[in-house]
Amino acid sequence: MHKESPVVKLLSKLVSIPSINPSLDRETVGCGEEPVTAFLEETSQNAGLVTERQKVATGRDNLLVRLPPAGEVKNRVLLAPHLDVVPAPLEAFIPKIIGNQLHGRGACDTKGSVACFFQALLDLASSSEPPQETEILFVGLVDEEFTQAGSRAFAESTITGDLAIVGEPTGLEVVSSHKGSLWIQLETTGKAAHGSTPEKGVNAIEKMHQAMNLLLGEYQKSLNSKSDPLLGRPTLSLGTIKGGDQPNIVPSRCQLELDRRTIPGESPESVMEDLHALFGVLGQSAPTIKISRTVPCPPLRTNPELPFAKLLLKCANQKQMKGVPYFTDASPLSMGGTPALVFGPGDIEQAHAEKEWIDIEELEKAHSIVLNFLKSLP
Ligand SMILES: [Zn+2]
Repeated sequence: MHKESPVVKLLSKLVSIPSINPSLDRETVGCGEEPVTAFLEETSQNAGLVTERQKVATGRDNLLVRLPPAGEVKNRVLLAPHLDVVPAPLEAFIPKIIGNQLHGRGACDTKGSVACFFQALLDLASSSEPPQETEILFVGLVDEEFTQAGSRAFAESTITGDLAIVGEPTGLEVVSSHKGSLWIQLETTGKAAHGSTPEKGVNAIEKMHQAMNLLLGEYQKSLNSKSDPLLGRPTLSLGTIKGGDQPNIVPSRCQLELDRRTIPGESPESVMEDLHALFGVLGQSAPTIKISRTVPCPPLRTNPELPFAKLLLKCANQKQMKGVPYFTDASPLSMGGTPALVFGPGDIEQAHAEKEWIDIEELEKAHSIVLNFLKSLP
C-alpha cells in the first residue's frame, strides 16, 4: 500500500538520482545537485508551476518554484529543503523498501523532507484552492552539507518570506533554535633542535599541551556554567592536531583545530576574547588564535510567537518548539531576513549513516502536516 502513495514514489525517485555535494565527492560518483534540480524543475513545469533558477556556482543552482495565491500577495512562506547529499557508493542510490522503511542515501537527510514539501506543493497546486493571500515558494537549496552556499546566496537575494521551513530530519518536531558553529585554529611555534639535545630547542607540542590543559580544564568549566533553555550548554571539541616531523626532532610547530558550538548570546568576537584571556597566563607560550572557517554560522533563535510559526506547531500537534545541536540552512536564511524553523521526517541519527533509511509512516505523516499547514494559510 505504501508503495503506491505519491510521496513514497517521489522519494524513491529522488533517492535514485545521485546528488552528492561535489565539494565532498572525492570519488566523483555523482555530478552535484543538477540532476535533482532538473527533475524537480521539469515536474513543476508539467504541473503548470512557474520556476526560476538562482545561480550559486557553476552548474549549481537553487530551484525556486512559485505557487501564487488566489488574490494579491500579502505574505510569503518558504519551503526550503536542501538537495545535496553526503557521499555514498553507487549502490546506495538504489532505493529499497524494507518493511516499513525506505532505504537509500538521502532518504532521511534530506530527500524525505524534499519529497514531503514538494508533494504538498503539487497537491495544493492541483486542488485549485491556493491560499487567498499567501504565496508559497519552494526553494530547493544546494550545498547545505558543505558551506551552505545555496541558502547564503538566497539570503543575499531580494526575496524574503514571513517564514521559512527548512527541511531536516527533526523527527516531526518543530525546531526554532539551534547552535552556531565556529572552527578555530590554534598554533604554537617553537625552535627545532636535535632530539638528543632537547634543551637547545623550544618544543611547540609541549606549548600546545599547556593550551590544551587550559581548554579542557578552566575553559570547559566556564562553558558548563552557561546554558540556553532550548539548547543547553555550548560545547567544545578538539578536532584535529598536527605537529612535528619525526621523533628525533624537537617540533617547531603545532596546530590544533577546535569545533566550538555556540548558543544565542555568544558571538565569534566574544569567543575569541575569552580565548585570548584564557591563554594570557601562558605569556610567550600562548598559541596564536584564528577563526579557520570564514563563513559565519551563528546560532538560530526564531521567535516561536510568530503567527505562522504557531500555525506550524499546531499542525504538527506539538506543544513547544524544540532546540537541536546541529547547524542548518535556517541560520543563513534568518540572517537574510526570513525567520526560519526546521522541520522534517526522519531521525537525525540516520543522517550520513552508512545504511540510511526513513520510516514510511513518518514520511507520510510529515507530508500531511505540511499539506495541512499550507491549506491553513490565509
Ligand atoms: Zn541535512
